[in-house]
Amino acid sequence: MFSLKMLPLLLLLHVQLSRAFPVPFASLEEKNRNIVQNYLEKFYQLPRDKYKSERMSKTNVIVETLKRMQRFFGLNATGKPNEETLGTMRKPRCGVPDSGDFRRTPGNPKWEETKLTYRIVNYPLNLTKTDVETVIKKAFKVWSEVSPLTFNRTSDEEADIQISFARRDHGDNSPFDGPNGILAHAFQPGPGIGGDVHFDAEETWTKTSENYNLFPVAAHEFGHSLGLAHSSDPGALMYPNYAFSDPSSYSLHQDDINGIQAIYGPSSNPVQPTGPTTPTACDPRLTFDAVTTLRGEILFFKDKYVWRRHPQLRMVELNFISLYWPSLPNGIQAAYEDFDRDLIFIFKGTQYWALSGYNTQQGYPKHISSYGFPSSVQAIDAAVSYRRKTYFFVNDQFWSYDDQSQSMEPGYPQSIASFFPGIESRVDAVFQENSFFLFFSGPRYYAFDFHAHRVTRVDRSNRWLNCRYS
Ligand SMILES: [Zn+2]
Ligand SMILES: [Zn+2]
Repeated sequence: MFSLKMLPLLLLLHVQLSRAFPVPFASLEEKNRNIVQNYLEKFYQLPRDKYKSERMSKTNVIVETLKRMQRFFGLNATGKPNEETLGTMRKPRCGVPDSGDFRRTPGNPKWEETKLTYRIVNYPLNLTKTDVETVIKKAFKVWSEVSPLTFNRTSDEEADIQISFARRDHGDNSPFDGPNGILAHAFQPGPGIGGDVHFDAEETWTKTSENYNLFPVAAHEFGHSLGLAHSSDPGALMYPNYAFSDPSSYSLHQDDINGIQAIYGPSSNPVQPTGPTTPTACDPRLTFDAVTTLRGEILFFKDKYVWRRHPQLRMVELNFISLYWPSLPNGIQAAYEDFDRDLIFIFKGTQYWALSGYNTQQGYPKHISSYGFPSSVQAIDAAVSYRRKTYFFVNDQFWSYDDQSQSMEPGYPQSIASFFPGIESRVDAVFQENSFFLFFSGPRYYAFDFHAHRVTRVDRSNRWLNCRYS
């Protein structure tokens, strides 16, 4: 099983292995075949088989089931276990299967009462009792704030929702698998085991950005306890894969609010709460916060999300920024790649961070005054590095920084429009590819050819996310 710490390796593997994509099913290594088979058996109701001959005869069933899995995760539904699909299967996740019917658990189970009780049966090793109780309370609050439900802790053995930490086989026919892999599971509303939540006791549970923060996992599992199924919206709490989210600034996604309110009705709060929505790649009004290259990929930042575009395969993947860099803030404003040092620099307000692949460098964030900006500059709109000069765009002006002498070049700032004819308005983001600076401003991008010294192409920004318009 892969942990998030191994992702840097996975990124490299991804680039190398994806040349072999797509892999025909028959030529798959036994190991990958087992990953696929186990995953589909656990999460997509693929029937288990006892004999190898049975397995061979059910290849078509596997292909069809694999396509369902790929559609759920928004992958190309090829029915072939390419590296993208295997990568998704290796991610740590919830043990509850992904039903085809989003949001509602099949059969629409629900609690008839709105006043529910819960009991914490036992505790994990790494957290104090008080920490666990605080996290659990906060995770229930996520749901009580947007619905008529209330949750009260009790020591009563008849509590509706029993919360426990268990290892391996723990008597419910859904054994845990040790560290990583399956993190937790929960049962739909009902008597007895109904509504109960089990966490894998062999995970390292934390209250930090280290794996695995108990809060998002608990809040996710409580969604199942209340009757929600998995969502295929990668921004939703009910998405099956683990993503770190900071409990102190957490707000429930609109998709989850819609789901819980479809079962229990609106919140008793006079002002109906609303939540963030996941940006839609093909929304014609889509704008980016920042764009940069990273070791051949292109990263498009938006709020708490990042799209990664693989240049050869043109595959685009949306994920949380926090999945790759848990210590970075949301709402990044500028980013550039320093090719010589193999680093990317990320800017928000007066602070900036240096990243080497998936690792945040020590000693950051730093203040942008270390680049030589005057105190009047409080934020960078966009940045790009080319031939040992880094260009910073601030309002209608830009600065040129000499990477070798590590100082701002004299004579700056200069007007953007006079040096980059055709770039008339404020720049949201910029990156370099071949002989072009690709400027993003609002929902459009401008390809500025720095040999011809003019804009040679203007188009919708989200063309870069594979959106096509007639
Ligand atoms: Zn789940
Ligand atoms: Zn269990």
